[in-house]
Amino acid sequence: MATDEACLFCRIVRGEVAATVVYEDDDVVAFRDIDPQAPYHVVFVPRDHVPTLNDVRDPILVGRLATAAAAVAAREGYDGRGYRTVINTNADGGQTVFHIHLHLLAGRRFHWPPG
Ligand code: AMP
Ligand code: ZN
Repeated sequence: MATDEACLFCRIVRGEVAATVVYEDDDVVAFRDIDPQAPYHVVFVPRDHVPTLNDVRDPILVGRLATAAAAVAAREGYDGRGYRTVINTNADGGQTVFHIHLHLLAGRRFHWPPG
């Protein structure tokens, strides 16, 4: 499993940087976003350091992030009313942390197109 000494999300996975962890399993860690864009905003990251969606070689990795997000959304009571899941990739996608992550945003109505 790859790790990157300097990567912020690897440092959170290793426990070197504090975060409010809301879910973890053998492959995935999820924690509250430090700058929430919704009443409930969590990011799901693989323990493995994969920089972007472009770098995913095992499609199950993305499935694990998505199903973990769905499980936490249900646990928090957002499954019925709904929620938004997002993976931002590179500059045009608005990616700022280069360790792949899936955002779970919930607790308000989201617009489409997202802008
Ligand atoms: P993105 O812009 O898609 O790369 O998302 C990166 C997210 O990580 C942003 O929503 C940030 O607010 C969030 N973030 C940055 N630093 C931290 C941190 N130390 N703990 C939790 N979330 C963070
Ligand atoms: Zn990393």
